[in-house]
Amino acid sequence: MCLMTTGGTIGSIYDPTVDSLRPGLSVEKLLQSLPPGLKSVRVVTREIFEVDSANAQPHHWQEIASAIQQVHNEMPDLDGIVVTHGTDTMVYSASAVSFMVRDFGKPVVFTGAQIPLHVPWSDGPRNLLDAIRVAAFADLAETCIVFNGEIHRPTRTKKMRSDAYDAYDSVDPSPLGVLGRDIVLFDWHRTRHNLVPKFDTRIDDRVFLLKIFPGLPPAILSRIINMGYHGIVMEGFGTGNIPTMENSLTGAIQQAIAQGCAVVISSQCVFGRTDLSLYAVGRAALDAGAMSAYDMTSEAALVKLAWVLGHTHDLDQVREMMTTNFVGEIPHIGRESLGSELGL
Ligand code: ASP
Repeated sequence: MCLMTTGGTIGSIYDPTVDSLRPGLSVEKLLQSLPPGLKSVRVVTREIFEVDSANAQPHHWQEIASAIQQVHNEMPDLDGIVVTHGTDTMVYSASAVSFMVRDFGKPVVFTGAQIPLHVPWSDGPRNLLDAIRVAAFADLAETCIVFNGEIHRPTRTKKMRSDAYDAYDSVDPSPLGVLGRDIVLFDWHRTRHNLVPKFDTRIDDRVFLLKIFPGLPPAILSRIINMGYHGIVMEGFGTGNIPTMENSLTGAIQQAIAQGCAVVISSQCVFGRTDLSLYAVGRAALDAGAMSAYDMTSEAALVKLAWVLGHTHDLDQVREMMTTNFVGEIPHIGRESLGSELGL
């Protein structure tokens, strides 16, 4: 298997000059934290970049996906890939890689740590070991996050805790699996296969994530569009509801769409999904031309919108792709992927 490093707490050291943590551990040091019995697993290494994931940008997502493609071309027989990454924006990067690397046939496992390796009770060694175990042995063909003994699908995952070992929760359905004496994988995971992988890193990073709050001035939308954005994910209330009376957003949404900007409504709730037809204040968004994020977290909807807009700016096609379940991001929509029909 291949171990790729990108920085984050798992690869951080204490820097006395700034009296805080910053990335700086070599991949060799990471490997030294693993038990000697692991020698039976052959590990090749790649240092992709070294940043605190708060500094990760959309081009970093592309760099990780391109590195995976390159390693696959050089060593197509690898059992799987582990990517160490900061926990702060891991769901964004791992979700992006989910869309950029499809039908890979084996696991791409993101992992990291809440506590750096030099601290004796760091979760880094265990998470790294678990990630290597999944990459090498699990019958899983998905990009996933392995953390605190759980295997998550990135597009259905949120960072819920900033300091506990269990940083992540899967939000409907439950995790893809758990690690114990065995690797237990639940029904909805995709098993290893031999399809030809699809690598497609095209994105349009002019996408904006806007949280709706009581009092939000609707004029903000035209400001965002005037800054050159092509897509906006708006986090609505509850099932995706928006203000329609004072400070109504409907006119601004209509105007945004008329200017060619895609508008997707997600939910501020962690659990449950967007259902714009439930309330009049949701249907108003639908009638104004907004799309529903359905099950997608706001993070997944934002990353997917960037990826979709990297392929087309035609709003009908954007809608078609946003409502297509490519990698399990909208499991309840129950439609076959249209990716191949769209030539993707
Ligand atoms: N700030 C760190 C990062 O995301 C936090 C971590 O890795 O846990 O890179």
